Amino acid sequence: MRLDFKKELNVWGLYFLTIFISIYFHELGHCIPVWVKGIRAIPTPAKEYILETIPADLQQKVSLGGIIGTVLITLVVMVLFLVKKFKYSSAVLAGVLAMPGMYTFRFFLVGRGHDASEFQEAQAALGAAYEGHLIDCLFLALFLAGIALWIFKSQPKLRITGRLAIGFVLTVIFVIIHQVVNNAIFDPVFL
Ligand SMILES: [Zn+2]
Repeated sequence: MRLDFKKELNVWGLYFLTIFISIYFHELGHCIPVWVKGIRAIPTPAKEYILETIPADLQQKVSLGGIIGTVLITLVVMVLFLVKKFKYSSAVLAGVLAMPGMYTFRFFLVGRGHDASEFQEAQAALGAAYEGHLIDCLFLALFLAGIALWIFKSQPKLRITGRLAIGFVLTVIFVIIHQVVNNAIFDPVFL
């Protein structure tokens, strides 16, 4: 079987572009609660920089804002996938499920979906137990719902498993490099 390179390029390009956009949505979500208060904040592709010291309760809302950003963009793409199909819609769905998937993977691996205390802060903002796993479970549910939707709509063949494994490894590498490069560029500017 000959590989169609143009198609491969489109699929993977669109997949990683969607991850990039979904992470940016997350960072935008972090900034909104402080923008509302008139405090300056810069969303960069992988991190938000808040240019003033903010009180703890606002920090909790900042954490929650990022979570809401990720959840919203994931739900919007899932609904679009359900109602409108185009040639590469599976790649876009996979891209938007990548972060919920990474959080879930990290949750199973080390017991927390996110480093530092972002999920705990967001839980506190929601009035849930600080040390609980509400947000971990939320992303687990979102990820599973997305997978179920994909299987239901696309009825993938079993031979796709190899591609999924490659995709998983590339995604871990992408997310790490994305963060490292982002911080290398913007930390010296804003910190
Ligand atoms: Zn975040």
